[in-house]
Amino acid sequence: MELIDGKKTSTEIKQEIAEEVKKIIANGGRAPHLAAVLVGHDGGSETYVAHKIKSCEEVGFKSSLIRFEDDITEDELLKTVAKLNDDSDVDGFIVQLPLPKHIDEQKVIEAIDPKKDVDGFHPVNLGRLVAGLDTFVSATPSGIVDLLKRYNIPTAGKHCVIIGRSNIVGRPLSILMSQKGVDATVTVCHSRTENLKEITKTADILVAAIGKPGFVTADMVKPGCAIIDVGTTRVKSDKTKSGWKLCGDVDFENVAPLCSYITPVPGGVGPMTICSLLKNTLKAGKQR
Ligand code: NAP
Repeated sequence: MELIDGKKTSTEIKQEIAEEVKKIIANGGRAPHLAAVLVGHDGGSETYVAHKIKSCEEVGFKSSLIRFEDDITEDELLKTVAKLNDDSDVDGFIVQLPLPKHIDEQKVIEAIDPKKDVDGFHPVNLGRLVAGLDTFVSATPSGIVDLLKRYNIPTAGKHCVIIGRSNIVGRPLSILMSQKGVDATVTVCHSRTENLKEITKTADILVAAIGKPGFVTADMVKPGCAIIDVGTTRVKSDKTKSGWKLCGDVDFENVAPLCSYITPVPGGVGPMTICSLLKNTLKAGKQR
C-alpha cells in the first residue's frame, strides 16, 4: 500500500505556480488577486479560509479577506458579490460555504460572475464542464484528478465508484473521471443506492465523499483498489489541543492494508483542493 501524500504533491504544485507568478511579474504583469468572503465564525470555515490566504502568500498572489458577522443580510452579501464582480483589481473570489441559514447559498453562487468563479460552483462553469468546454473546474474534483495523475494511478477503462453526488464533489468528479483523457467508467452512488457494498467491491478507484466518519469499511473494498477519502468531519477528541480531530469517510486502519493507494485525512485531498483554487485564480488572472 502506498500513501498518497497530498501535502507533498500540493507543495510541488505550489512551487510550479510560484514560478509562473514570478515570470508574469518579470514580464511586467501583476500578481493574480484572490478575494475570500467569510461570513460568521464557523471553526471549519475559519481554518479553510486561513489556509487559502496563507497559500496565496506562499505563491506570490495578492489576497484579500472580507469578513462579515453572521447576521449580515442576503442583500448586503449580494451587494458585496456585485462589487467584487466589478472590481478590476480582483481576478477571482470565493464565498466560503456554508452560509447562515437565512441566506440562499444558490442565489449567492449564481450572483458570482462565472469569469471570477474560481471555486467553479456557478451553473455556467458546471455546465461548461459537462459540455467538455474550458472552465473553472471545482477545486476538490480537480485536485483528486491531479493526485491520480501525479501518482500514475491508471484510470483509462477502470471502474471508478464515487459515493456522494453533491454539486461540489461527487457530481463534478463523476464528469471529470469520465472525460476523454481520464476515461474511467464511472458509477455514482448516494443514499438511495441499493446494494452499495456489491458496487463498491467492483471499484478499481473508490472515492468516498459522504461526510460520515469511517463509513467505508474493509468488507466494502476490492483488494488492490485505490481509495480517495474526501470526507472531513470534525470529531471530538481528548487527544488533541483543539479538542477535535479531522476524520475521513474511510475506516483507514482496516482498509489501508487492503488497497494499492489511499489518501490520508488530513493530508490527502484537502491540500490539493487549495492548490486547484490557486490554479483557477492563476488562470483567471491570465484570462483578464
Ligand atoms: P454533501 O453535500 O452532504 O453530500 C454527501 C453525499 O453523500 C450525498 O450525495 C449523500 O446522498 C451521500 N450519502 C449520505 N449518506 C449516504 C449513505 N448512507 N450511503 C450512500 N451515500 C450517502 O457533502 P459534500 O459537500 O459532497 O462533502 C462530503 C464530505 O467531503 C464532507 O465530509 C465534507 O466536509 C468533505 N469535503 C472535503 C473537501 C476537501 O477539500 N477535503 C472538500 C469538500 C468537501 P444523497 O444525495 O442521496 O443525500
